[in-house]
Amino acid sequence: MSKQELGITVKKDENVSEWYTQVVKKAGLADYAPVKGCMIIEPYGMKIWERIKKKFNKMIEDEVDNAYFPLLIPESYLEKEKDIVEGFDPEVAWVENAGKDGKLEERLAIRPTSESIIADYMSKNIRSYRDLPFRINQWANIMRWEATDTRPFLRTREFLWQEGHTAHKSEENATEEVLKRLGQYAELFEDIMAIPVLKGKKPEHDKFPGATVTTTVECLMPDGKSIQAGTSHNLGTNFAEAFEIEYEDENQKKNKCHTTSWGISTRSIGALILAHGDDKGLVMPPNIAPIEVVVVPILVGDNKEKVLEFSEKVKEELSSFRVKVDKNRDKSPGYKFNKWELKGVPLRIEVGPNEVEDKELTTVRRDNGEKQVLEFDGISDKVEEILEDVQYELYKKLEKSREENTRTAETLDEILDNIDTYGGYVKTAWCGEEECEAKVKDEVHAEIVLLPFDKDVRSSDVGSECAICGEKSEEVVYFAKTY
Ligand SMILES: [Zn+2]
Repeated sequence: MSKQELGITVKKDENVSEWYTQVVKKAGLADYAPVKGCMIIEPYGMKIWERIKKKFNKMIEDEVDNAYFPLLIPESYLEKEKDIVEGFDPEVAWVENAGKDGKLEERLAIRPTSESIIADYMSKNIRSYRDLPFRINQWANIMRWEATDTRPFLRTREFLWQEGHTAHKSEENATEEVLKRLGQYAELFEDIMAIPVLKGKKPEHDKFPGATVTTTVECLMPDGKSIQAGTSHNLGTNFAEAFEIEYEDENQKKNKCHTTSWGISTRSIGALILAHGDDKGLVMPPNIAPIEVVVVPILVGDNKEKVLEFSEKVKEELSSFRVKVDKNRDKSPGYKFNKWELKGVPLRIEVGPNEVEDKELTTVRRDNGEKQVLEFDGISDKVEEILEDVQYELYKKLEKSREENTRTAETLDEILDNIDTYGGYVKTAWCGEEECEAKVKDEVHAEIVLLPFDKDVRSSDVGSECAICGEKSEEVVYFAKTY
């Protein structure tokens, strides 16, 4: 790859779609696969996913154990819960033939989600109230045969995710669980990935198949489209009834369990790319970055060995961070600067003969390009300070952008105008009818992304009549175009 090909050749705000494709490929995140809609997750992309995994496992490990369930699910299992059948039927991939004998007696679904197979497991392993709450999580791959435009991470037929499944004694316990996991998703996005989210629920007609309530965390991308970043569902007793998930209470009476499920996927990497990236490529928030600091030795003149030695000392001094020393002797410093900028490493430290002599370091921030010369002594504290500031600034920038791109509307025309002219979120009152949402969808391809939980947001000044039909409004909603 020549130097020219290494860099991103389009500007993000001029052609975000081409920009995204180039970043994914050139930063070494993912590549296309022979089957449309599948992707090869390359090592750098996988490192990001592994960090997401590590952080989320840490959040849930006190209460939830990881397990693994089969990729193949018998058709009869899916059929037990009618909403799952109807909801997923159009996008299930089936195995119908296998091995020497050819046609299988029963078709096997490549899991589009695992509620059915895990519900069956729950029904066999839950006996009494003492077994509750029952919680299990799996990290796995999922297949949903999307017909629409596929894009690496954002919309793929095969993706990786985490799916948590729980069973509880009461409706109240299940609701608590749903909100707790949603809160952890919000924490993962906000504190680790520096992406502000809105928490809320989906409209009735847009719930997960088989759910009584679907809650969501949504984040607004700089191009004005919203991403559904994670969902947490209350499944009521729907699966308990279909799969006989029952427990005996203190009085030996049999009751149906209330179950939940919740998930985030490799789509979160798509959000990370879009949220922070710039014209030079990725910008990684330090808390999620596979490499937080890259040390680039400037190998010129006779002092190469001394420069390398000093670079290693810097790495040692920064041992509490994820640090890489780029010792490649075949590439110029300029090439390396571009490469690590493309990969979004939050901080670069340059070490040349002058730095060795003066016991100083030149640092360059990826997010704003700010250059500083720092003393070697006390470098670890200083780096910590810088990285914390990078993390904070990245979050603040998006929060500000979301604030500026949230507008209110009181009529259908205002909704359409706002979406058409600016994109972003349009906050409005809505009566609850799918038909009213459809009028917006048909005109500008925007939909209700959530009904926010936040009371301040809900009590805002959008009137008490549906902006579209004028009927009494029950809810405040956010419209947006979506990924
Ligand atoms: Zn209406």
